[in-house]
Amino acid sequence: MTFRQEPPALGNQYADDRALRSYLRRALPADVLREIEPSLQDLGELAGGELYRAQLADRLHEPRLVRWDAWGARVDLIEVSPLWRTAERLAAGHGLVAVAYERRHGPHSRVHQAALAHLFTPATDIYSCPLAMTDGAARALLASGNRELIERVVPRLTSRDPARFWTSGQWMTEQAGGSDVSLTETAARRDGEGRWRLSGRKWFTSATNSQVALTLARPEGNAPGARGLALFLVETRDDAGRLRGITVERLKDKLGTRKVPTAELTLDGAPAELVRGTTDGVRDIAPMLNVTRLWNGLSAAALMRRGLALARDYARRRVAFGSPLAEKPLHADTLAGQQAEAEAAFHLAFRVAELVGREESGELDEEQSRLLRLLTPLMKLTTARQAVAVASEVLEAFGGAGYVEDTGLPVLLRDAQVLSIWEGTTNVLALDALRALGRGGEPLRSLQSEAEQCAREARDARLAAAAAVALRALAHAAAWLARAHEEGQEFLESGARRFALTLGRASALALLARHAQWSLEHERDARALYAARRFAAGGIDLITETDAEEAFALMGDK
Ligand SMILES: Cc1cc2nc3c(=O)[nH]c(=O)nc-3n(C[C@H](O)[C@H](O)[C@H](O)COP(=O)(O)OP(=O)(O)OC[C@H]3O[C@@H](n4cnc5c(N)ncnc54)[C@H](O)[C@@H]3O)c2cc1C
Repeated sequence: MTFRQEPPALGNQYADDRALRSYLRRALPADVLREIEPSLQDLGELAGGELYRAQLADRLHEPRLVRWDAWGARVDLIEVSPLWRTAERLAAGHGLVAVAYERRHGPHSRVHQAALAHLFTPATDIYSCPLAMTDGAARALLASGNRELIERVVPRLTSRDPARFWTSGQWMTEQAGGSDVSLTETAARRDGEGRWRLSGRKWFTSATNSQVALTLARPEGNAPGARGLALFLVETRDDAGRLRGITVERLKDKLGTRKVPTAELTLDGAPAELVRGTTDGVRDIAPMLNVTRLWNGLSAAALMRRGLALARDYARRRVAFGSPLAEKPLHADTLAGQQAEAEAAFHLAFRVAELVGREESGELDEEQSRLLRLLTPLMKLTTARQAVAVASEVLEAFGGAGYVEDTGLPVLLRDAQVLSIWEGTTNVLALDALRALGRGGEPLRSLQSEAEQCAREARDARLAAAAAVALRALAHAAAWLARAHEEGQEFLESGARRFALTLGRASALALLARHAQWSLEHERDARALYAARRFAAGGIDLITETDAEEAFALMGDK
C-alpha cells in the first residue's frame, strides 16, 4: 500500500478561533456580541468550508486584461477570477464595508467590521484590498464635506446590495514616486466646460476594475511639491461601460496577490471631480490611508491565523518518527512562538479598530486621538513584518508540502510579503511615526500611559513580568528618542525602524498581557498568558547603538 498523506482541513473559522472569540467577549457588550455572533458563525462556516474549497479550486485563475472586443473596439476590460466575483457579492451582502457606516453598534461598529474582516480576508484571496480602499474612500469623502459626492458616491460604497455596491481604487503611486508622492506628475486641467481632466501615468493601481478611484493630480499652475497636489474622484467608466479617458497599459506580473488586478494606467484627459480644495490633496486623502492601514494590520493578523490554523491541523495528521508532529516538543514549541506573534498582532490591530470606532462616534479625547495617530503607522508596520515571518515559518511547518503550489500553501507567504510594501513600507511608516511624535513627546507619553494601564490590569505575577518587559522597552525607546534629537537627523532616521518596531511590539505585548489577565479571570484559560510570555521573550526592545555613519560605511563602495 502506498502511503497517502491527509491534507490539512479547516473547521468553522469563527468557532475555532479562540483568540477572536475571547477578545470579542471582553471588548463588546454582551447584547452586541449576541446580535452579531450569528453572522460571524455564518462567515466562519463559509471561510472554513465552501470558500476554502473554492480557493483551492480557483488557484490557477488570474485576472485577465481583455484589450479588444471581437469587433475591434478597444475595451480594456479586466476579468477577475470566479472566487473574486463571489467575494464581491458576499462582501456587500455581509456588510464588510457597510457595518462601519451604519454604526448600528455605535463605537463598537469598527470592532464588528474588524471581526468580519478577520474571517473574510483569508478566505477570499486578498479581496480585502478593494474593500480596504472602498472603506477608505468612503471615509475620505465623508471627511471632505463634498455634499454632492457624499450623497451620490458614499451610499454606493457602503451599500449591502451587490447590484448597487461600488468599490473604489486608490491611485497614488507613480513611476517617479510611491513613497514620495510629492513627485506626482499627473496634471489636472479644466476643459472648455470647466470640468477637470487628468493626464498622466499611474504606476500601481490595484483592483482596477473598481467603479471609482481617488487619485492625486497637480492642478495646472500649482507649485511643485506635495502641497500643490489636489485630490480627485474619477468615475472610471461611462454608462455604456467604456473607460473614460483611461487606458489600461498592462497588468503587473506580481510575486503575490495574484488575484488582485494591479494595473498601469494612462490617463489622457480623464474626467474627474475635485474632492475638496485645489491644493493639499495629500491631507485630504489621509483619512483613506488611515483606514487602508487599519485593514492592512487586520489582514496581517488574519493571514497569520489562517496559516497557523492549517499548520496546527496538519501537525495532528502528519506522523514522523513514530508520533504526530503535534506531540513533538520542538514542533509544538516552534508553532507556539508563531501563535504568540499572531495573537500579539491581533490585539494591536483590533486596538486600532476600537480607537477608530470611538473616533467616528466622537468619543476620543485629545490624548486618545494622539494615541490613534501614532498607533496606526506603528500597528501597520509591526504586524506586516510579523505576517511575513510567520508565513515563512508556517510553510516550513509543512516541510516540502509547504513549498508545493497545489497544496495552496505557498500563496500564504507570497501574499503576506505585500503587507509591508503597500500602504507605506516599514521605513516610510517608521518616519511617519516620528512625524506623529513631533518634538513635544506627548504622543509617546500617551502610548506609555496606555501600556502602564495595561500593566496595572495584568495582576498575575507572570503577566506582570511580561508587561514589565513592555514598559522597559518603551522607557528605553523614550530615552533613545531624547538622545536622537540631540544627536541630529541622521542618527534619528537611521534608528527609526528599530525605534518604531520597539514601540509597536511593546504596545502589542501590553495589550496582549491585559487581555490574558481577563481571559485568566473570566474564562479560566491560560493560553493568552502563555502567548504573552512567549511574545515577551521574542524580542521586544530592538533598539541598538549602531548609527548612520556605520550603516553608510557598511553599504558604501569604499
Ligand atoms: C501588489 C501591489 C499593489 C499596489 N497597489 C497600489 C495601489 O492600488 N495604489 C497605489 O497608489 N499604489 C499601489 N502600490 C504601490 C505601493 O504603494 C508602493 O510600491 C509603495 O508605496 C512604495 O513606493 P515605491 O514602489 O515607489 O518605492 P520607493 O518609494 O522607491 O521605496 C523603495 C525603498 O526605499 C525605502 N525608502 C523610501 N523613502 C525612504 C526614506 N525617506 N528613508 C528610508 N527609506 C526609504 C522604502 O522603504 C523602500 O524600501 C502597490 C504595490 C504593490 C506591490
